[in-house]
Amino acid sequence: MTQSLTLSPGKRFRLDEFDPDDRGDFKSKKEAEEKTAENLRRLKALQEMLYAQQKHSLLIILQAMDAGGKDGAIEHVMGAFNPQGVQVTAFKAPTPEELAHDFLWRVHKATPGRGMIGIFNRSHYEDVLIVRVKELVPEEVWRKRYDHINAFEKLLADSGVTIVKFYLHISKEEQKARLLERQQTPEKQWKFAPGDLEERKRWGSYMEAFEEALTRCNKSHAPWYVIPSNRKWYRNLAISEVLIKTLEKLDLRYPEPPPDIASYVIPD
Ligand code: ATP
Ligand code: MG
Repeated sequence: MTQSLTLSPGKRFRLDEFDPDDRGDFKSKKEAEEKTAENLRRLKALQEMLYAQQKHSLLIILQAMDAGGKDGAIEHVMGAFNPQGVQVTAFKAPTPEELAHDFLWRVHKATPGRGMIGIFNRSHYEDVLIVRVKELVPEEVWRKRYDHINAFEKLLADSGVTIVKFYLHISKEEQKARLLERQQTPEKQWKFAPGDLEERKRWGSYMEAFEEALTRCNKSHAPWYVIPSNRKWYRNLAISEVLIKTLEKLDLRYPEPPPDIASYVIPD
C-alpha cells in the first residue's frame, strides 16, 4: 500500500494525481481500525527497541493545510508511543529571536537525539510554504531554501536520524466541512481561527508551493508520503503502515545484556 503514497525521488509530484478520498482496499472503517490497532501495538514494540538501543532516532514531519488532521494523527497514531521517548514540537510563526537567526536555527535544536522520536507539527517546510505564499521574504531568499533544506536533512540522515515526511492530503471541500464543524461545535470552537479563512483563499498557491516542496525535497533518505486524509481512519492506518515499514528497515534490536548477567545475585 505504501508504494502508492510516494514517488521516486526526482519525479514531479502532482497532488491532483493523489486522491484524498482514497481508502485503499478497506471496505469498512471498522476493518481499518482493527488493522490500525494491531499496527499501533507493533509500533509500540518497535519504539521500545529504538529507545533501548540508543542508536537511531526517528524524525516525523507533518505538514497539511489547516484542519488537515495533524493534531488528530499525533493523538491517534503517535499516541501509541511511550511518551518518555517522544518529543513533539509545534512550529508556530517565528518569534523575534527566531527571526533574528537563520530559518533552520529553531528547527535544528528540536531534532531528536539517539533513541528518541521527534514529531514536528509543521516544520521548516513552512519557510517554503506560508512564507512563499504570503511573500514574507523575497523570492530570492525562499528559493534557496530547498537546497538548504536538502543539505540539512542530509546532515541529519548522515548523523543517524531517519526522516519521514507526511503531507496530509485533504480536498478543499473537506477543509470547508471541517472549518464549518469547528465554527459550529462548542467543543471545537477553540480551534476556529479566522486567519485560516484567509489562508483558504490562497488554496491554489498553497498547492503549488506544496508540489514544489514535495518534488524538490523528496530524497530516498527523507521521503515524502502523501497521505489521503479525507477519511481520518484511513489517514491513521496509512501513517501507521509507513511508520512500521520505516522502523522495520532499521534492524532495531535490544542491546546485548552484560555477558555475565546470570552470575549476579540480587540482594534480599
Ligand atoms: P491547528 O491546525 O490546530 O490550527 P496550527 O499548526 O495551525 O494548528 P496555529 O497556532 O493555528 O497552529 O498556527 C500556526 C501558524 O504559524 C500557521 O499559520 C503556520 O503557517 C505559521 N507558521 C509556522 N511556521 C512559520 C514560519 N516559519 N513563518 C511564518 N509562519 C509560520
Ligand atoms: Mg491553525
